[in-house]
Amino acid sequence: MYWEKDIETLGRDSLNKLIIDRFNHALERASKSLFYTKRLNEVAIKPGNIKNFKDISNIPFTTKQDLRDNFPYGLLTMPLDNVIRMHSSSGTTGNPTVIFHNQNDINQWSNLLARSLYMAGVRKSDIFQNIMGYGLFTGGLGFHYGAEKLGSLVIPIATGNSDRQLWFMKEFKTTVVHFLPSYALRLHMHFNDQNIKPEDLHLKIACIGAEPHTEETRKKIEELYKIMAYNSYGLSEMNGPGVAFECEYQNGMHLWEDNYYMEIINPDTGEVLPDGEEGELVLTTLMREAMPILRYRTRDLTRIISEPCKCGRTHRRIDRIKGRTDDMLIINGVNIFPMQIEKKLMSISEVGHNYLIEIRKDNFLDKISITVEISNEHFKPNENQSLHHKITELLKNEIGVNPIVNLVASGSLPEFQGKADRVKDLRLIN
Ligand code: AMP
Ligand code: ZN
Repeated sequence: MYWEKDIETLGRDSLNKLIIDRFNHALERASKSLFYTKRLNEVAIKPGNIKNFKDISNIPFTTKQDLRDNFPYGLLTMPLDNVIRMHSSSGTTGNPTVIFHNQNDINQWSNLLARSLYMAGVRKSDIFQNIMGYGLFTGGLGFHYGAEKLGSLVIPIATGNSDRQLWFMKEFKTTVVHFLPSYALRLHMHFNDQNIKPEDLHLKIACIGAEPHTEETRKKIEELYKIMAYNSYGLSEMNGPGVAFECEYQNGMHLWEDNYYMEIINPDTGEVLPDGEEGELVLTTLMREAMPILRYRTRDLTRIISEPCKCGRTHRRIDRIKGRTDDMLIINGVNIFPMQIEKKLMSISEVGHNYLIEIRKDNFLDKISITVEISNEHFKPNENQSLHHKITELLKNEIGVNPIVNLVASGSLPEFQGKADRVKDLRLIN
């Protein structure tokens, strides 16, 4: 049932002791980099100074801007001779944030993914089709190494060519897939073209993540493919996937506390919040050698679930990511998260696979329009009035403002290369 029983079920006191111990080691390693030598000197913090969790709050946060300002090698702790891999985040503006790994880092990371996959029920006997971008993006190679370590047969097919993806699934009897939730929905549109039913495939498990999605989207994917879908969370700054993952109970993601120290803070004040309160997730790499990062502000909003999990793992869980601190929309003074819209849309059976949110300024007022794809069986051009009314009302009740809803046929909206980008804020342009 466990990949590493001892560490996954370690008692809370021992786990806390381990975290403090590893935090001091992380400080020691971090202070070998130019960036942290300066940072830690400024606040007079030395390795060994951390005696309890409260002491940690004296260490300054690290932000994405810090990584950019010290690009490319400012956080590196060792000669490049010992560095074997680089990855980078999917951001499109400014210097990319790059992360370096030595051999131990890659081993640790692969092990965390093997542990996560095993927790979701993946075994040696599985055939794992990795439908994720290989290359600088961490989703492809991260899972690839993890699934290999676990011993599954890995198909490194990467993204693209949906018909070929389905052909591979059929011919090689793929049992586990890893894909973006937005792509999972899109790929399903090809089932019809190829006359495939979920029963024709051998799929059991999907790992979905790397982008925000709702419980309703997960359910939709599970129903469309007739499988179990597990949420996977990570970010390049913390290696990538393998930071937090769902267990069989699918009720929050166990965050691997032996490798990452987690805190939730108030994003406005930086104050550390107690377990259960929602705020911004802050993470520290406890084991990374080449490029440790202390108290990294992820900008992801969630809360810590500290109640024990039925699976017996002691590592606390984080709730599904609600959004990012920077993706809240303010529409005529009303705060809206795109995930609220997705949640409603994906609970409506007639809704297809995609949607787009656009915000414009019209006569000094913000207008939000939501274009929604309707599945082929329910889309009737010019006869969608009652469906239109139903969707508009449901959305209005959820978000508290009146949206302009457009219903379009399945496949009408532009497709994404990589992670879904479904919000266009055009207010600054007009
Ligand atoms: P990147 O470093 O480019 O892979 O992007 C990492 C970001 O993707 C995270 O900070 C989150 O905002 C988002 N992300 C990753 N996994 C999830 C997930 N399971 N749910 C929601 N957002 C996610
Ligand atoms: Zn669990």
